[in-house]
Amino acid sequence: MAPVNIQNVQKRFGSVNVIHGIDIDIGDGEFVVLVGPSGCGKSTLLRMIAGLEEVSDGEIHIGSREVSNLPARDRDIAMVFQNYALYPHMTVKENMGFALKLKKVSANETAEKVNKAAAILGLDKLLDRFPRQLSGGQRQRVAMGRALVRDPQVFLFDEPLSNLDAKLRVQMRGEIKALHQRIGTTTIYVTHDQVEAMTMADKIVVLHDGVIEQIGAPLELYDRPANLFVAGFIGSPA
Ligand code: ADP
Ligand code: MG
Repeated sequence: MAPVNIQNVQKRFGSVNVIHGIDIDIGDGEFVVLVGPSGCGKSTLLRMIAGLEEVSDGEIHIGSREVSNLPARDRDIAMVFQNYALYPHMTVKENMGFALKLKKVSANETAEKVNKAAAILGLDKLLDRFPRQLSGGQRQRVAMGRALVRDPQVFLFDEPLSNLDAKLRVQMRGEIKALHQRIGTTTIYVTHDQVEAMTMADKIVVLHDGVIEQIGAPLELYDRPANLFVAGFIGSPA
């Protein structure tokens, strides 16, 4: 666990500014949701936190370290993507252990970490299956398992449920929250779905055209929206 501090972060692609001076303070163990319409800059911001995209300006701190210029592998974060491509030729166990193998963690320690994550995610009985032998929800759990085995300081999720059907999406929201309650890792979760944001977040950051419209607890945004954009966005059906 670690706090995350985002200070005046900006992103330009060529001459186009897509993130304009963003500040966010995320507490140790907090579950923060970045929400906003498609194209508002959620993924770009998350990718800058992950180290997959350079910041054009500003600073990102994880714990006491400034990480803005560190490569992704040195940031102690793990990210779960929208298109959680599992390796089709690897079993669940191998998929989950792969990142550790790359980091030269011993086979014994890898097995221990994979088993522990599998127990937490209810994947114990599926470890020898291949991705094609899993349901959508189970695949999603394996994708989370890959992140969990790395025991990161921060979890980043980019629309992890958008490929699932509505019923499974609701179930997986609950599972991700339960996981967070159990392990307490600081989490930054991106979605364009305001219902998902309202039901999952400790704190919501509403983004619009690369600018923060409001930061607050779900009820605060609902009761006291800062402006018409927030009122309309939070108030409209998913
Ligand atoms: P969101 O995740 O909220 O849908 P993105 O962060 O993907 O939004 O995109 C924000 C804006 O930045 C969009 O206008 C998008 O077209 C633009 N953008 C994203 N990545 C690139 C890139 N590599 N080059 C140029 N423009 C980009
Ligand atoms: Mg996106």
